Amino acid sequence: MQANCDRPEVPRLPVAGHPGVNTVPRPIEALVHHAALTHNLARARAAAPDARVWAVVKANAYGHGIEHVFPALRGADGFALLDLAEAQRLRAMDWRGPILLLEGAFEPRDLELCSRLGLWHVVHCEAQIDWLARHKTQQAHRVFLKMNSGMNRLGFTPAAFRTAWARLDALPQIDEISLMTHFADADVDGGASAAQAAFDEATRDLVGERSLANSAATLRGVGVAGSDWVRAGIALYGSAPDFPAHDIAHWQLQPTMTLRTRLIATQELQPGATVGYGSSFRAERPMRIGIAACGYADGYPRHAGTGTPVLVDGQRTRTVGRVSMDMLAVDLDGLPLAGAGSEITLWGEGPHGSQLPIDAVARAAGTIGYELMCAVAPRVPMRVVAAPDETAATDVDRPARHG
Ligand SMILES: *Cc1c(COP(=O)(O)O)cnc(C)c1O
Repeated sequence: MQANCDRPEVPRLPVAGHPGVNTVPRPIEALVHHAALTHNLARARAAAPDARVWAVVKANAYGHGIEHVFPALRGADGFALLDLAEAQRLRAMDWRGPILLLEGAFEPRDLELCSRLGLWHVVHCEAQIDWLARHKTQQAHRVFLKMNSGMNRLGFTPAAFRTAWARLDALPQIDEISLMTHFADADVDGGASAAQAAFDEATRDLVGERSLANSAATLRGVGVAGSDWVRAGIALYGSAPDFPAHDIAHWQLQPTMTLRTRLIATQELQPGATVGYGSSFRAERPMRIGIAACGYADGYPRHAGTGTPVLVDGQRTRTVGRVSMDMLAVDLDGLPLAGAGSEITLWGEGPHGSQLPIDAVARAAGTIGYELMCAVAPRVPMRVVAAPDETAATDVDRPARHG
């Protein structure tokens, strides 16, 4: 085995907010694709043309950064999230439209912030109604009364829903009551029909706007007709809610996040040589591997075993061995031109129009696209790019592979 790490300069990618200043010692970065976000929002709108669209931006916009996605998603009718600090960040960006707290108040004093910032909030339990009844405010609140339609997470049962509605309706603190539920199984055919029937039955003669559909339901047209608001999350971020039944190409969505890095070394393996902790991968014949500057401390899933798809200079290959904290290994078989400095696409858009769906990586790691995008670590610099060609801007000065 012969180490090959003598390349003098591995090109560094620009640091977000510091163009041209290379203060980060590693070449990893995440890109947020502005145009793809806008495109995906338009897709959600097209799927629910008669409804208004909540852009769900919880979990810091599914890991993309609320500030990063806001300019692309400001055409939404409102933003839905659950962290009050994130709601404050939206108001700080001068968003004056609707903001919905999907889990409502966590404690009574949260209602003061709702009054002050004009936040709409979910009411899912009796305690939240008690807090509202005691809340002193000039500003009457808009609430979304949540029904538990089978998820058994939050919400009033269909049997208790009407009483909760009447209690709220009698409070001077309440301006308007909307009706909502969240499906447990909208990602499979017919999965939400019983929940939808329960919701329709229990709310039939109740006044109020309706909101049922998440991304899966919106794309599949479930709980959309006759509803006033859809709640699009994952679809905006270019991951298919029902992968692998459908991929984002099927839903005409575009990837909104790229995670990329570079190779920092290569290794020549003899038959029998192993790779990484636990020696879980063993070479059966002579082979060459590359070491990429990305590991689980960057948010790459450690459970992604040998065979997880990865792009090297836009060519699809596989990871080999266990993912380390800061590095992972890729198979360079059939890629003789690849070497230290080669661009590695962990997911998203690669060079020369190549793509690696985040859903394919998630599947190999036994998880879903949601988890991967939410897990990108704070140490990974992230920046917004307006159009796909801008992602290539740093490729020009990349040296060719040495011998
Ligand atoms: C997260 C969430 C959504 C969005 O779900 P996606 O599957 O990402 O579209 C919608 N509604 C509620 C209540 C949520 O918590």
